[in-house]
Amino acid sequence: MKAYDGMYIGGAWRPAAGPDVIEVVNPADEQVIATVPAGTVEDVDAAVRAARTALPAWAATPPAERAARLAALRDVLAARQEEIAETVTAELGAPLKLSGTVHAGVPVAVAGSYAELAATYAFEERVGNSTVLHEPVGVVGAITPWNYPLHQIVAKAAPALAAGCTLVVKPAEDTPLVARLFAEAVHEAGIPAGVVNLVTGLGPVAGQVLAEHQDVDLVSFTGSTAVGRRIGAIATGMVKKVALELGGKSANVVLPSADLARAVNVGVANVMSNSGQTCSAWTRMLVHRDRYDEAVELAAAAAAKYGDRIGPVVSARQRDRVRGYIEKGLAEGARLAAGGPEAPREKGFYVSPTVFADVTPEMTIAQEEIFGPVLSVLRYDDEDDALRIANGTVYGLAGAVWAGDETEAVAFARRMDTGQVDINGGRFNPLAPFGGYKQSGVGRELGAHGLSEYLQTKSLQF
Ligand code: NAD
Repeated sequence: MKAYDGMYIGGAWRPAAGPDVIEVVNPADEQVIATVPAGTVEDVDAAVRAARTALPAWAATPPAERAARLAALRDVLAARQEEIAETVTAELGAPLKLSGTVHAGVPVAVAGSYAELAATYAFEERVGNSTVLHEPVGVVGAITPWNYPLHQIVAKAAPALAAGCTLVVKPAEDTPLVARLFAEAVHEAGIPAGVVNLVTGLGPVAGQVLAEHQDVDLVSFTGSTAVGRRIGAIATGMVKKVALELGGKSANVVLPSADLARAVNVGVANVMSNSGQTCSAWTRMLVHRDRYDEAVELAAAAAAKYGDRIGPVVSARQRDRVRGYIEKGLAEGARLAAGGPEAPREKGFYVSPTVFADVTPEMTIAQEEIFGPVLSVLRYDDEDDALRIANGTVYGLAGAVWAGDETEAVAFARRMDTGQVDINGGRFNPLAPFGGYKQSGVGRELGAHGLSEYLQTKSLQF
């Protein structure tokens, strides 16, 4: 067990102001592996002051130099990929292979994409008789969740740095160790003191103080819709900018002409990956009534194959929450095709890969985000019915459409109320804007769209 006592503020590791700590638990064996300080108002205040002090110089740093620092950050993250993967596995529970490819790999790609964008983005443009300057918003408060712990930090920090903003990161309490590695990488990459600061701590304490801080110009939050709503209200009340990446209940629409086996297998893999803890996971599979029974059988077989390969969910609280949803699905009349609420192992926060059939659109398991390895398979009568079901939740983060030809899938995707749709299993693109329609959020992350969230415009007329 390792007891860490510092927070990264003003370019150095400083002892926390208060004595409280947060225990970090390995979800695979329930052992406490480390403690980190639980930041208080003093720590947040010191970090925001450091970010404010560093702002003028960083904002005035030429984009090419900001790009060079981001490239250095990408290189450090790439060099430390193995250590990052092991850390994510220890605190999140993700299988090591997934930690390597996704949790450690994607941040390298995203940091690299912003190194390029910082160098090439038009921070100045001509509009008629005006010059429009795209200037940094200022000091950013970045509050992140645990499910893709490093990716979610980099998806905020990299565009903020490219834009010329400085920031204070408050990572999730369950996964602070990879956030500490990120701060070390920032230091190694030669990013000037105070430009990036890290305060570990509890959401309702350190997170809330950061969101409410009068010297924070933009709050960028990823997490639950419930907390996002509060942060949105705080920011609006203080007239500060806010970006919210929230929950989802995305639909995987399998049109009658689709390759059913492929659509189902990729769909199940999408839900089970990261133990179902992916905000954009396609947790509702929509299948035409004529192919429904076949799809359920395929989905159950695919889920059963995950049996031993799936990691635990992040915490006992999350496990209980997910099991509660499985019990609710049964109580509301859905039929278990695979998995169930029973603990599959004696130790660790494991949940069986679960597939529900005979799910109807109004059921809780078809409406609420479960954030565990649970798939609901729904039946539709025709395309309009499929669209009604797909669009029939408060969320709109992602989705998928499968059809015999791309044009047919795209025509359906155009009618979906959601921020991102994968066509016939389209691949992840770190440059494509990511974010939600409806209650899935406000604003976009990644690529040029993500960068623009950290910029504000000034028009000069001639
Ligand atoms: P959460 O909302 O409980 O916590 C997210 C972060 O907010 C954590 O750092 C937490 O400490 C902090 N926080 C909690 N209460 C706070 C408060 N009162 N004031 C300020 N900060 C506070 O969510 P979680 O359980 O960590 O993450 C799971 C949720 O995140 C899911 O709903 C998931 O869909 C969502 N999520 C969304 C995206 C996206 O990009 N849309 C990505 C990942 C996760």
